[in-house]
Amino acid sequence: MSNSKCSICATGIVPAGLARSAPMSCATGDICYLRESLATPVEYILQATEVIRQDPVALQRSKAALRDLRSRSIGKYRPCLLVRNAIPGARPATVFLMGTLRREPIESPSIPKVYREFCRAIYPNSGFLDSAHFHTTPPWPHSSQWLVSYPIPLGDNNLVTVHWRFKDESTPAQVYAMDKASLEALTVHSRKTFKEWQARCNKEPEFARAVETEWRARSAALRPRRRSISDKYLHGSELLCFSPTIATYHSRAK
Ligand SMILES: [Zn+2]
Repeated sequence: MSNSKCSICATGIVPAGLARSAPMSCATGDICYLRESLATPVEYILQATEVIRQDPVALQRSKAALRDLRSRSIGKYRPCLLVRNAIPGARPATVFLMGTLRREPIESPSIPKVYREFCRAIYPNSGFLDSAHFHTTPPWPHSSQWLVSYPIPLGDNNLVTVHWRFKDESTPAQVYAMDKASLEALTVHSRKTFKEWQARCNKEPEFARAVETEWRARSAALRPRRRSISDKYLHGSELLCFSPTIATYHSRAK
């Protein structure tokens, strides 16, 4: 199977690749599986935004929201791009979270504006306007996938050990991953995105405050619905995701 040209970007190619099977551990660039809220990266973004940091009330609101997210394990099971895995007991894993925004158009009034600033499309999602998109190997199987281009640390120091899989996949699950060059490009892009955000917020503090106010008003509506029994069955148990089991961490041959 050879690579093919991307139908969206002029120079991009769709990596064909071969799915890897029976992975024993999660490596940098792998799309993994964990329970986390898409609200979490937003709180990290807000707490890194100078205008918000200088507003004690807004900053405390964000810190309280993040504590709440973490203490109650709020969030659904979702894919994430592993930037680096944890050092068990010493350092949390760093990931880019992924979500579908309930498959609503990102321009929808029900989607908080901050996601328009930071969400980037995963091909074959064509994204919006002239925003960047990124490719996985093999290509993501649906066109509703977004990635929040702001890396976050997870809330504990456990290794990420479970790869993302779709409900209708046969076993063994295939591993979706982003190649090294794409991950580097995404990392550079995410830094640039935040730098531009910071500059705009500093120039227009009312913009930052409006985005934060809107976020507080609308984020509650994005809280996940209660999972059905079939979801739980198909996606495995919580024990599977939060087991502190120490898996061997090694680089796989490409
Ligand atoms: Zn492309």
